[in-house]
Amino acid sequence: MTPIIHIHYSEYLDGVFDAYVRSIPAYKDWIRPDVQTVKDKAVTFSKAWDKAGPQILQCMCQNTGLEFKRNYFPVYVVCGNTRAYSNPIVIKSRFTADEFIECLTHELIHCLFVDNKDSAFVRATNGFADHVVLYAVMEYLLPGTVDKVVDMEAFPGNARYIKAMKQVKEAGFRSILEKCRGTATESCAK
Ligand SMILES: [Zn+2]
Repeated sequence: MTPIIHIHYSEYLDGVFDAYVRSIPAYKDWIRPDVQTVKDKAVTFSKAWDKAGPQILQCMCQNTGLEFKRNYFPVYVVCGNTRAYSNPIVIKSRFTADEFIECLTHELIHCLFVDNKDSAFVRATNGFADHVVLYAVMEYLLPGTVDKVVDMEAFPGNARYIKAMKQVKEAGFRSILEKCRGTATESCAK
């Protein structure tokens, strides 16, 4: 099934994340965007996903051979967040629309893997280091994803993601996906 992705502002979580981000010493001087700006961004993100999302979801499922078991995912847009989550999906407002699409795609791949944790494909992902297969799927869906490793190197917190992206660049996303699926790579509208 194709799940409904409901992207919206959450007043309750906005307040929670406002306090949470400020509680982190490195962010004590952080200035949050005003509420209307966060609300407007949620609308912008939702429109961007309406355009790009259906094909991303379709290709994500087609390429992995997996299907979502849940039919609804709320996506909460909040003032700030030091990292995105997949359960629940909470994403900061200070992304561009393209960055948001990339971030949400990443989190939805986690959700897809959770929904299919007993499948042969997801069991095969355990043979790889953390996030390698996820970035292989990302590179297939959004070509150029793993080239962004250069921009990420400025942030030490990204070390495990950088390592995974480099592995995908070296091995090639197709060979990683082929290993997980055990079949030749199909192309999906690309
Ligand atoms: Zn992740």
